[in-house]
Amino acid sequence: MTQIRLGVDLGGTKIEIVALASDGTELLRRRVPTPQNDYDATLAAVTLLILDAERELCVPVGSSRVGVGTPGSISRATGRLRGCNSVCLNGRPIREDLEERLGHSIRVTNDANCFALSEASDGAGQGVAVVFAAILGTGVGAGIVVNGLALDGPNAIAGEWGHNPLPWPGDDERPGPVCFCGRAGCIETWVSGPGMVRDHLHTTGDALTTVEIVSGAAGADAACEATLARYEERLARALAHVVNLLDPDVIVLGGGISNIARLYVNAPELMRPWVFSDRVDTRLVKNVHGDSSGVRGAAWLGGLV
Ligand SMILES: [Zn+2]
Repeated sequence: MTQIRLGVDLGGTKIEIVALASDGTELLRRRVPTPQNDYDATLAAVTLLILDAERELCVPVGSSRVGVGTPGSISRATGRLRGCNSVCLNGRPIREDLEERLGHSIRVTNDANCFALSEASDGAGQGVAVVFAAILGTGVGAGIVVNGLALDGPNAIAGEWGHNPLPWPGDDERPGPVCFCGRAGCIETWVSGPGMVRDHLHTTGDALTTVEIVSGAAGADAACEATLARYEERLARALAHVVNLLDPDVIVLGGGISNIARLYVNAPELMRPWVFSDRVDTRLVKNVHGDSSGVRGAAWLGGLV
């Protein structure tokens, strides 16, 4: 019998489940609203989604491989979640609690790792050894997959380069915007969506959204073009930093910013001066699975149980 992989994406507003066959074919997808500020109700909702999926697919209860993607990360030292924007999850041993309800082992990792796993398994980073997958949205996070496995180090922070400083800053970029983490000039403060918005506001006095800035640049608005050019150059520096350290085969972008098509042409060129090599063969590509990567990556994670 084909092994079914179940992936659960536990988000702040919705919980989604997908069932994948071993070749990545989607067999089922369901979503429910996330119970707000109620940990026990959240556990119950996740458990019910898994049991219902097994029933619907006519597989024996407990025979599926289950992966769960969460916000934040699980401390290896304590087994408890931390850094979740859904704060009722923080301090909770979610893997143990779900395993107790399900009666079998599951895999849990954070949503950036799920994104990276999804794209490395059957997405934009398929078939290569090392994938760096960055989500550029409201915040900036990333996951690293090497030979099909998401790196999960002792601190559970592999890929968290968003809170490194923007590399090779110019005088006008120091100390940089204050970040929620308490430092100034973090990569996240420059290359997140709000980072682009803030830079445009700071330079021009105009409060535009990222979509307005991108369409302004396409329509030959000089100020929008300049903001987008600064953004691309900073993103290139931030990614060159990753190439010098990790030398990935592919860098996959996700999040709202990843929809800006010109990034994939301009950023690789702008990376060259900062990469310690006479040429740069790293491919910079857009994700294939979009918003589905979180839940699909969780399913691929489950396959590793
Ligand atoms: Zn920071």
